[in-house]
Amino acid sequence: MTSTANLMSYEDALSSFDPVMGLEVHVELGTATKMFCGCATEFGGEPNSQVCPTCLGLPGALPVVNRTAVESAIRIGLALNCNIAEWCRFARKNYFYPDMPKNFQTSQYDEPIAFDGYLDVEVQGKTYRVGIERAHMEEDTGKSTHVGGATGRIHGADYSLLDYNRCGIPLIEIVTKPIEGAGELAPEIAKAYVAELRDLIKALGVSEARMELGQMRCDANLSLRPHGQEKFGTRSETKNVNSLRSVERAIRFEIQRHATVLTDGGTIVQETRHFHEDDGTTTAGRVKEEAEDYRYFPEPDLVPVAPSRDWVEELRGTLPEVPSVRRKRLQAEWGISDFDMQSLVNAGAVDAIVDTVAAGADSDAARKWWLGELARSANERGVEVTALPITPAQVARVAALVKAGELNDKLARQVIEGVLAGEGDPDQVVEKRGLKVVSDEGALGAAIDQAIAAQADAVAKIQAGNLGPVGALIGAVMKTTRGQADAARVRELILEKLGVS
Ligand code: ADP
Ligand code: MG
Ligand code: ZN
Repeated sequence: MTSTANLMSYEDALSSFDPVMGLEVHVELGTATKMFCGCATEFGGEPNSQVCPTCLGLPGALPVVNRTAVESAIRIGLALNCNIAEWCRFARKNYFYPDMPKNFQTSQYDEPIAFDGYLDVEVQGKTYRVGIERAHMEEDTGKSTHVGGATGRIHGADYSLLDYNRCGIPLIEIVTKPIEGAGELAPEIAKAYVAELRDLIKALGVSEARMELGQMRCDANLSLRPHGQEKFGTRSETKNVNSLRSVERAIRFEIQRHATVLTDGGTIVQETRHFHEDDGTTTAGRVKEEAEDYRYFPEPDLVPVAPSRDWVEELRGTLPEVPSVRRKRLQAEWGISDFDMQSLVNAGAVDAIVDTVAAGADSDAARKWWLGELARSANERGVEVTALPITPAQVARVAALVKAGELNDKLARQVIEGVLAGEGDPDQVVEKRGLKVVSDEGALGAAIDQAIAAQADAVAKIQAGNLGPVGALIGAVMKTTRGQADAARVRELILEKLGVS
């Protein structure tokens, strides 16, 4: 059953069952080098150009732990209110996969570096505490490309290509405790958790955590149990969900699917599932292995990791403000509503606005440009606002020119357009496109006289006390000055000349 047509409704599902969730999030760290060797981690290199005997698993090659990765893992653990292990080891997780040349993944098993914490998330004005079971260190696999065949999957492919550049890039896996009591808000809480975790990771500066690039991905476990039952039901694990919206949709679909199967008297098998972005459904993957199947054993080639308490405390001192606290602080500073703050968060524009304000703009002006003109351009280009080729300092400069009366809004939009088109800094665009507001009163005066002479009817009405036609005169002046006049100033001058106040 994969279509939504014969699924029980979400409301009906919730009227009989309570969902239990477990979220496993993998974060690719932004270290310069890999987890156990000195190879570069930079994205986009020629296939197999960032590899060495260690990450290729050649005989005799020995791993060394990346100190920065351990430091990042500890900082993530501390930010998630976890305990940090006094002593922990890596373990080998044994299985074959062509993109994993060692035939095992170096991971952590029963001795994670961080354990037993929590992250608070806010949904519909209420705070939910999501328990963190553990955060452990491991390494990424390489990347397979299956060529030929219709689906891009291995089945039906003519051959496969392997790129080991990603192999050995440090990953942190963060696993929640079972999330119970979420009820109908389960999908939203799952999404809010992943969003909050992403913001925290970004604030820590340990990864850009861009889900669309696979730098952060989520496996979503879900089970249902009848109301009143204590024992958990059997879970499914939807793998590699790679956007916030997909996390929400995958959980919602699985709730409906489980409920339908259980209500029909069927059983849920413990298996992995694939999520399909196009229709929001999941389909069966593989039947889930048990931990024993991986024959975990302690990694003999690496020394244990035993972070000193001094080091841990030093790292605690480097933690950033918790994102939810920071958001509340900024909202108060900017004096905006919950709704407006949420729009900024959804647009991914909070940091850009902070930086624009730091560069000297008023928060109102900064919000206006980032949520208006820039959000629109980003949308047209299909990128995040922060990926636009304009800096907060440049936006602040545009705002300053508007404030000084040198640009009006219309001209400012053209300046921004020019900066985005690569024409240089705001001042250069103003110069090249000749976009200054005509503030030279002589030139303005001439344009106004011309408008007055051409529209005798309008002038008569205005002088008789009907100010409606002033707009037409302003329009004429704007036309003569090619939009480069300050409309408010033009209005003042017209009224002055006509002796109306
Ligand atoms: P695995 O490696 O098999 O995926 P993990 O322990 O790493 O197992 O992760 C399982 C996740 O699912 C955890 O977040 C855990 O809290 C959660 N979980 C465990 N049992 C259930 C269940 N019956 N229903 C929902 N979630 C569960
Ligand atoms: Mg798992
Ligand atoms: Zn290497």
